[in-house]
Amino acid sequence: MLLVKDVFKSYATAQGPLTVLRGVDLQLGQKESLALMGESGSGKSTLLHLVAGLDQPDAGTIEVEGRRLETLSEAQLAHWRRTEIGLVFQQFNLIGSLKVEDNLAFQARLAGRLTPQWQAELIERLGLGSLLKRYPEQLSGGQQQRVAIGRALASRPKLLLADEPTGNLDENTSDEVLQLLLDLLADSPTSLLMVTHSPRIAARLGRQAVLHLGRLAAEGER
Ligand code: ADP
Ligand code: MG
Repeated sequence: MLLVKDVFKSYATAQGPLTVLRGVDLQLGQKESLALMGESGSGKSTLLHLVAGLDQPDAGTIEVEGRRLETLSEAQLAHWRRTEIGLVFQQFNLIGSLKVEDNLAFQARLAGRLTPQWQAELIERLGLGSLLKRYPEQLSGGQQQRVAIGRALASRPKLLLADEPTGNLDENTSDEVLQLLLDLLADSPTSLLMVTHSPRIAARLGRQAVLHLGRLAAEGER
């Protein structure tokens, strides 16, 4: 489903090039989930950005469902991202000027994939029914993240990329939100790549890997 092969990535900095990824290999099958761990600054967000096609590797290939991202044009990439990728961030990133119901439908609408039945199921299962007319600033952190998860899954993406989705939530809320997410994924064709600092959260996913010195190792292999 997702195949990352020998990926390198450097950033230009005032002190010269900073090489963050030095030959990352990663495979993720359909419906599999992988927790991506590693120290702050180890390149976890960088890797997620590359997989989302938001930035390009310097070397190596990223393939999603047999499509090599570097062969896609900007327009194809944008379309692919809207339809096949769901993104969830630590800061929720909801659109402040839109009500919950419109935030929820936003991506699926853009992708032309809004299905009322799935939308209704997401609202029900994420417990958002009474919040639909509110604006993001009128929600708690856990509520905002539930909306962000619904928005990301509304188009039934092949791959959900989550960058520390529970990083701004307290422990109980984290567990609650994670459980809702895992339950929804159990009924979806979606694979999950989730960055987390929490070994407790990571342990709930199918596999765990650690990014260290620019390379990825399965936990325990290092
Ligand atoms: P993580 O998500 O694991 O904390 P990041 O992928 O955000 O790590 O960053 C990895 C390293 O690359 C850090 O040292 C960070 O400062 C640097 N970095 C990230 N983005 C840029 C950028 N656009 N320009 C320069 N350096 C960057
Ligand atoms: Mg990060």
